[in-house]
Amino acid sequence: MNNQIPPQLPFRTEALENADIIASARTIIHEGPICDNCLGRQFAKIASGLTNEKRGEILRSVLEAELKEGKCWLCNGLFENFDAWALKALETLKGYEFDSFLVGTKVNGMLLENEELLWEIAGAAYAEPLKAELNREVGKRIEHETGKIADFDRPDLVVILNLVTEAVELQINSVFIYGRYRKFKRGIPQTKWLCRECRGKGCDRCDFTGKMYAESVEELIGGSILEEFGGVVTVLHGSGREDIDARMLGSGRPFVMEIKEPKLRELDLKWLENKVNDENKDKVEVLELQYVKREAVAKIKNAKVDKTYRAVVSLKTDVLEEDLRSALDNLIGAVIEQRTPLRVVHRRADLVRKRKVYDARLISFEVPIVEFKCDGGLYIKELISGDNGRTIPSLSELLGTEAEVKELDVVDVAI
Ligand SMILES: [Zn+2]
Ligand SMILES: [Zn+2]
Repeated sequence: MNNQIPPQLPFRTEALENADIIASARTIIHEGPICDNCLGRQFAKIASGLTNEKRGEILRSVLEAELKEGKCWLCNGLFENFDAWALKALETLKGYEFDSFLVGTKVNGMLLENEELLWEIAGAAYAEPLKAELNREVGKRIEHETGKIADFDRPDLVVILNLVTEAVELQINSVFIYGRYRKFKRGIPQTKWLCRECRGKGCDRCDFTGKMYAESVEELIGGSILEEFGGVVTVLHGSGREDIDARMLGSGRPFVMEIKEPKLRELDLKWLENKVNDENKDKVEVLELQYVKREAVAKIKNAKVDKTYRAVVSLKTDVLEEDLRSALDNLIGAVIEQRTPLRVVHRRADLVRKRKVYDARLISFEVPIVEFKCDGGLYIKELISGDNGRTIPSLSELLGTEAEVKELDVVDVAI
């Protein structure tokens, strides 16, 4: 995986005309017919600023009388077909949008064996591997024809010259889009949730959809953008997730949408935002879309976030407004010891987590509505109900009556 262009230093061809080098080149050409690329490549670290082909030509002119005729035994004529490989690579790239690329080669066993054999005979002190030359030369051609640049670190795509299958393959890196989403409708999970019964194959229980729920935030947003990018699949990476039956309001929840194997990578995001929002009215909305790098996924996943929830609460017995207010006041600044809720203990480790409540306030009393600002990861339904004593303290415990969440909304996620 190397298609670096050598630095443009002045030619120093005299270095190749040294007696030791000539002797070594002679050993090589006595093995059999060899092309200029393969001969020159054995001395790639000498005479900077030249192509291997040029190095080969220089050595050939010195050793003219001793050369054997015929197809190169090392590469089996690969470098004669070099143009064909470059054209095939350019052909394969048609229809893909990219700014940067890298060329890699999968070498077949015969070439590797030949190369090792030659190095045993003539030494490898000045040599460069065959695939490094092929990568670089094809890379130079692609740069020249497309005006795009080779990038070792983070190419948009990798062109793979597969010498085994004689095909050019593409490895296309994902596009990542950061944004925030709001969810206006209850009953929609954040990501696609496979049917528990059939694990996605399709069965009676899931009506042969393979899914627990007909739609998800991931599929709704993804459905509006996947085809536009010509991608294969979209994956939503969220900064935490709300309950299925909770809406996500306020400033929305940060997420990164990954589009795998896209053909296009530079769509106008304002336009895309409008498209997503038009197509998913009353369900999901996105805002602040921007292109980001892959690291953004880990960043939003690991960020410490504070969340603000709003809950409609039902109380088993009547309580006085002042008692409700004072119970909420008692929760401000409290560290909640929360054992994994009964409703999720089948899929999460049963342990006690400590999470802080930063603010708790009464929004309305007639139908009690409360708002909590707290650490991410605190289960609000259990903060209110107490979960049979598994969450301490709780609103229920402080009021001395059973309390239950009727409706839950996330109104802010702050990173
Ligand atoms: Zn060759
Ligand atoms: Zn099923």
